[in-house]
Formats: sequence, structure tokens, C-alpha cells
Amino acid sequence: MIIRIEDIEIEVERKLIRSMRLSVYPPDARVHLSMPFFLREEDARLFLHKKWAWICRNREQVLQRPRKPQKEYISGECHCLFGTRYILHIEPVTVGVNSVGIHEDMIIMHCRPYATVENRKKQLQEWYRTHLQAMLAELVNKWCARLGEAPVEWRIRQMKTEWGSCTACKRHLVFNLELARVPVDCIEYVVVHELTHLAVQNHGPAFKALMTQRLPNWKLLRKQLNEFLIAQ
Ligand SMILES: [Zn+2]
Repeated sequence: MIIRIEDIEIEVERKLIRSMRLSVYPPDARVHLSMPFFLREEDARLFLHKKWAWICRNREQVLQRPRKPQKEYISGECHCLFGTRYILHIEPVTVGVNSVGIHEDMIIMHCRPYATVENRKKQLQEWYRTHLQAMLAELVNKWCARLGEAPVEWRIRQMKTEWGSCTACKRHLVFNLELARVPVDCIEYVVVHELTHLAVQNHGPAFKALMTQRLPNWKLLRKQLNEFLIAQ
């Protein structure tokens, strides 16, 4: 069951327990309430209202947690593309174009000697965007065809707390640029998740059932996805 308070969706699950158990999970500050079978939905609502300040405070804390150490975009640093780790190698060039490419286990980046951290970050992000664009085009087409969905519009953005989003009425999806770093299976999970929102707009039982039918191991992939960036 999903209880929505203000703009927060709370997953409520009945369990063989004696009292309410409330949790806020990283990295997306998902709120989950386990409640005993003998209590009613009304009891859950009352409990959530009583705990509202606690929920807001804990969500803030989780969302502000740094998800990974800050990168400096210098030689020797580790960067992933589609789940594979590469060592960044910066090669300053004074002539020719700036470029990024893979050579064996290295990402070779040609940039100006005076390029700042921001410049290098931007250059690498553009490279990630190109790769992710191609990968998403393939996955979105594949799944639209498989699910019998009409084509959708989508784009890539830097997002802070979500891997993707779906505006069902406009048939418009957004994907987080950070997905370029994670394994392709996990990107596929996000694509199927967002496409499934065309049919069901919340994360309730109907949504989960449809996900299981479409991608039976989705729970494992979601776990891998959320652990991936933390482990990096
Ligand atoms: Zn969703």
C-alpha cells in the first residue's frame, strides 16, 4: 500500500510484527513503514502524521549525504563507463582538438594544459553523455518494441536524487547522466522502470507486479544500481 502525504510517497507493508517500524533508506530517502496486520490504514496515517517531523528530518539527512567522493579529474583517478573501471590519464595538448577515448584500461583525455577541474569535468561529462545517448537509444527502442509501447520522448540530465523520471501524460522520460557509469543491466532496469510508469504512475503492488513480469530480477538490479556508485 502507498500512503501519500504532501509530495512524499510512503510504502506501507503489513508484516508479522507487534509495532510500527519506520525507516528512511539511502540513497533516495525512500520512506518505508512496516505495520502489524491487526492495525488499520487509519492507524498508519495517524502514526505517519505523528512522526512527520522525524521523517522530514531524516529524509534531509539522507539526501544531503555525499553519494561518492568528489572527483578531481586528474591522472590516476578511477572512472567507470558502463560498469567497467578505467584509470583516467590526462594528456595536455596545446594544438589540435580536445578529445576523450579509451585505450586498454585507460580513459585518455586530451585537454589544454590550463584546463580547470570544471573544464575537465565538463569534457568528460560530454563524453559520458555521448555514450549514454547511444546506449539509451538502443534500450528504449528495444523495450518500447517489446512492450508494444508507441515511441516515447526522452532526454539525459544531471539529476541529484533520481535515476530517472517519467511524465506519463506527455510520454516523456528523463534519465540521469550518472547512468553512464553503471553496468548496462542496471541501465536496462531504469529504462523498464520508467516505461512501466506509463502504465502505473506510483510504486504500488500493480507497478511491482508489472516489473516482475517484465524483468523478473529487477529487485536485484535495483540493489546493484544503488550500491554501485557508493562502492566506486
Ligand atoms: Zn519510479
